Amino acid sequence: MVKERLSFRSLNKEVIDPGICAACYGCVSFCSANELNVLTIEKDKPVYRDEDKCLEDGICYLICPRTADLDKTIETRFGSRGPVGSFVSVRSLRTTNKGIAKVACDGGFVTSLLKFMLDTKKIDGAVLSRKATLWNNEPMIATTMEDLLKCAGSSLAQSKSIRDLGDLTTYAPILSALKERNLLDQSKLAVVGTPCQTLTIRKMQMLHIVPSHIVQFVIGLFCFENFLMHGNGRKYLAGKIGADLDQIERINLKDDFTVKLKDGRVSHIDLDDLGPIVRSECLACTDFSNNVADISVGGIGSPEGYTTVIVRNIAAQKLINQAISQGYIEETEAKGIIEKISKMAERKRQRGLRVLADRKAAASRSKRA
Ligand SMILES: Cc1cc2nc3c(=O)[nH]c(=O)nc-3n(C[C@H](O)[C@H](O)[C@H](O)COP(=O)(O)OP(=O)(O)OC[C@H]3O[C@@H](n4cnc5c(N)ncnc54)[C@H](O)[C@@H]3O)c2cc1C
Repeated sequence: MVKERLSFRSLNKEVIDPGICAACYGCVSFCSANELNVLTIEKDKPVYRDEDKCLEDGICYLICPRTADLDKTIETRFGSRGPVGSFVSVRSLRTTNKGIAKVACDGGFVTSLLKFMLDTKKIDGAVLSRKATLWNNEPMIATTMEDLLKCAGSSLAQSKSIRDLGDLTTYAPILSALKERNLLDQSKLAVVGTPCQTLTIRKMQMLHIVPSHIVQFVIGLFCFENFLMHGNGRKYLAGKIGADLDQIERINLKDDFTVKLKDGRVSHIDLDDLGPIVRSECLACTDFSNNVADISVGGIGSPEGYTTVIVRNIAAQKLINQAISQGYIEETEAKGIIEKISKMAERKRQRGLRVLADRKAAASRSKRA
């Protein structure tokens, strides 16, 4: 039997049609025939714009975080140890800078580490997400302290699609910011991203796809799921918190969804009770702790005002120790963090495996019908 060539058609069949696309848009951003406008995004989904011009080289398929062809290579390169991946240490860290602490999501560790890396010229910039409003963010390459401060904190809401079509996606489409870079670009960048974005970058690095060569350091965000704030979802969340959404001062995700209102009230919502605002495709993801990043960060497990950091390699450990010794970051002792992360990671993994199996089965049933 002749095997069909890997192409966007294969991706459609195995990922997009079954409803498990992560919406990282790596396929659209790094399509080898990009200048021919072969792919585009419609209603948050990658689609063919001009199928006849498809080069059928399978790049879009191979770098997709939901395909498995590079799994073994990735595992050999980055290791794998249970649901949280391999690591050298798990630490509770925070910034020493009051200005950063004021705007940061948790301990401001991410912003401070990036500041240290910029100051010491370990990187020229960082691909981040800038919060435009509570419900809207956009990718940005930060090169100064001022830029870093604009990006600090997390926006958990939708952002404009990478092609500015006005479509809604669940997170900052940071891969599009990378897309602008080319082979001759020798700058060194750090990237902050969700697990699906990190996996796409790692796959691009395995295949030497431009411009993944300039990504020096990947900071992976813990991520249980992303959110969509369409009409019904907005109504649902307003009901849950007992207030209009414009009364929200801050949203944080640790082991639950915490909403702080401007009048000081705080609501804790279980992650399994967020149904209508969860992006359905995220339910098929199995990676909570961003297992192939250089370091992974979240709030879960650490005392208030600290960031939990999984350090995944010796170089990252050295970098953090340097930042501590030069006064950018400080550490506190915290116990039982890894157990909390593992529990969350296993919860997400089990859900992801169940949803993946259900959706693939449903897709093949509907193909047979
Ligand atoms: C969608 C999402 C889901 C999350 N889920 C969890 C969770 O379930 N449990 C948990 O413990 N932690 C979760 N986190 C991580 C947590 O909210 C903090 O981002 C993390 O602890 C870092 O805190 P910090 O104070 O050190 O970072 P800061 O110093 O505030 O810096 C945060 C950095 O992350 C970047 N960033 C923010 N949002 C995005 C985005 N959407 N895409 C790319 N970059 C972004 C910002 O630009 C900024 O540079 C999630 C984050 C996001 C964005």
